Amino acid sequence: MAGGERRVGLATDVKAMFIRVEIAGAAAKDKELAKKLAEVCPVNIFGQAPDGTATLVEDNLDECVLCELCVQAAPPGGVRVVKLYDGTVLQR
Ligand code: SF4
Repeated sequence: MAGGERRVGLATDVKAMFIRVEIAGAAAKDKELAKKLAEVCPVNIFGQAPDGTATLVEDNLDECVLCELCVQAAPPGGVRVVKLYDGTVLQR
C-alpha cells in the first residue's frame, strides 16, 4: 500500500483510527446483552437498533478508555476490543 494509506476491514472501523470493537454474531443478536453493553460503556460506544440488537457508534470508537467493562459484560468471545495501534486485544 502507498504511504499513509490504511487498509480497512469491516464497515464499522472506517472512522476509528485507534480502536476496533467486534461483537460476535450471537452476542450481537442478544437483546439483553445489547442493553447491558449500552449501559456499561462509559463513552457510549454501544447502542441498540430499533429491533433491540447491538450496534456500534462509530464516531465514539476512539473515545474507548479500555476499561474492559464490555468484555466482562459479554460471554467469553462475545466482545473484543482491538487496539489498532499495537495489535493487542482485550478479550476473554
Ligand atoms: S473497553 Fe470500556 S470504553 Fe472501551 S468499548 Fe468497552 S466498555 Fe466502552
